Amino acid sequence: MMDDGRNQHGGDQHGGDQDIGHLLKLVEIPEYLSMIQPIIDHLPCGVAVFDPSLNMVVCNGVFRRLLDLPDELFTAGLPSLKKLATFAAERGEYGPGNPEELAEQVVQRAMAMEPNQFERVRPDETILEIDERPLPNGGFVTLYTDITERRALAERSRDLEALNLELTNTVAALAASNAELHAAREELEHLAQRDGLTGAWTRRRIEETAQQEMLRKARYGHPVSLLFIDLDHFKRINDTHGHAVGDDVLKAFCNIARKCMRSTDLLGRWGGEEFVILMPNSGVMIASLLAERIRKATMAFEFPIAGRVTASLGIAECRDDESWDSWLARSDAALYAAKAGGRNQVIKDATHAGEAGEAELLDLAYMRLGWRKAYESGHSLIDSQHRDLFDLANNLLTSVIGDRPDDEVVPQVESLVADLTKHFHDEEVIFRSVGYSSADDHAEIHRSLIIRANNLVENFKQGELSVGELFNYLAYDFIAKHMLSEDRKFFGLIQADSMRQAES
Ligand code: GH3
Ligand code: MG
Ligand code: MG
Repeated sequence: MMDDGRNQHGGDQHGGDQDIGHLLKLVEIPEYLSMIQPIIDHLPCGVAVFDPSLNMVVCNGVFRRLLDLPDELFTAGLPSLKKLATFAAERGEYGPGNPEELAEQVVQRAMAMEPNQFERVRPDETILEIDERPLPNGGFVTLYTDITERRALAERSRDLEALNLELTNTVAALAASNAELHAAREELEHLAQRDGLTGAWTRRRIEETAQQEMLRKARYGHPVSLLFIDLDHFKRINDTHGHAVGDDVLKAFCNIARKCMRSTDLLGRWGGEEFVILMPNSGVMIASLLAERIRKATMAFEFPIAGRVTASLGIAECRDDESWDSWLARSDAALYAAKAGGRNQVIKDATHAGEAGEAELLDLAYMRLGWRKAYESGHSLIDSQHRDLFDLANNLLTSVIGDRPDDEVVPQVESLVADLTKHFHDEEVIFRSVGYSSADDHAEIHRSLIIRANNLVENFKQGELSVGELFNYLAYDFIAKHMLSEDRKFFGLIQADSMRQAES
């Protein structure tokens, strides 16, 4: 039976119903009482047994230690409940109050004992779980378990659970507000049609405007070009200096591009470090000029922290009856060619058959309208005037590229318009003299060009037009393009006429 009991109590569990059940049996039989001591000495909980007169009959060391009972209490044999309770009450074990009365309450309760389990917080703040069981023939047994750690653990895990819940809620709230912020920002960007980081137009806005420009091209023949830009080795900047420095480069790049652009050009962020510039009223030649300016300005700029950064640029002018997708793909392909060609360069899409002549006009390396033999009419006056106009246009171009102040540009522009007016007049006399059948139509074109030229100069003086735009119209539209399209129609007549004169 002892073995049996030891096995039953040998575990490290505090007293439970089964432990008590066996103990109760043992303490009931006087011969066995002496056997209880070694058994309860092996229990991890404190045990004390009281007889029907409420005198202690046995207890273990854990009991004495848990209740912090001094040896003096035990020198005259095991104490009575009364003695024990009085000592405990005086020590404040039962809280405030008269110790005599408190001890008496303990005794009264023990006499009418019901099976009972409760907790007591001791003055030193340890927590005891107390299990009291009456014995069948009077007396009782109590088991004491120190649950301070267990309670602390439970509380800590409760705290952790609460904290975890709080964190979960916070994270969820953050995620929600983040999503809201994100949505709000997108909504704002959408409304403003501006990219939040760089202030460049959104892809959507660029696409909408491109559609409008394509309509204008279809209706009025206004050329429109698209520039595709990608910063070179941008990943390295992020990798070396961090994303924030990368962001600053994007912002700074946009500012550089804006300084180079005309007021009618539209800078858009296509995504990441890719940008586009939509250029209304610009053939591939003007677009190349702008692209080259941006490339050079970027290369020359000392970006804070990141240092030198270069860009690759691709250009395509919208073709007649071309879809947006096809036009975009051509400018993207030109950009790809610029990357493949070694980066830090401008590549014009070459698949536009009709623009070869115009593209040739501009010598990118020298940033000049280049004169070619093919532009000669064979008439010495017309040719020398055309060449002079080219020179004047190139002077204007130098001012555009060099960002010369407006007051320096105004006289240049005025003499250009004056020369253009005189040239148109002389040219009309000449093509009428060779019997050009569309002479009236051509003269009408001249007349409207001159009216527009004077208006544009006025706008420029008022600050409503940038020098770049002025150059675009005067040098490119009115001189170079007009000469390459309209003028060529009577060149044949002049050449035939001069051959006839040579024969006669
Ligand atoms: P390549 O010369 O071939 O264009 O090289 P790259 O490193 O620029 O090429 P790639 O297009 O692979 O890398 C673009 C990098 O730009 C990858 C991406 O992490 C980074 N990026 C995209 N958007 C942003 C942004 O808004 N801010 C920052 N800092 N980096 C971005
Ligand atoms: Mg890229
Ligand atoms: Mg890149």
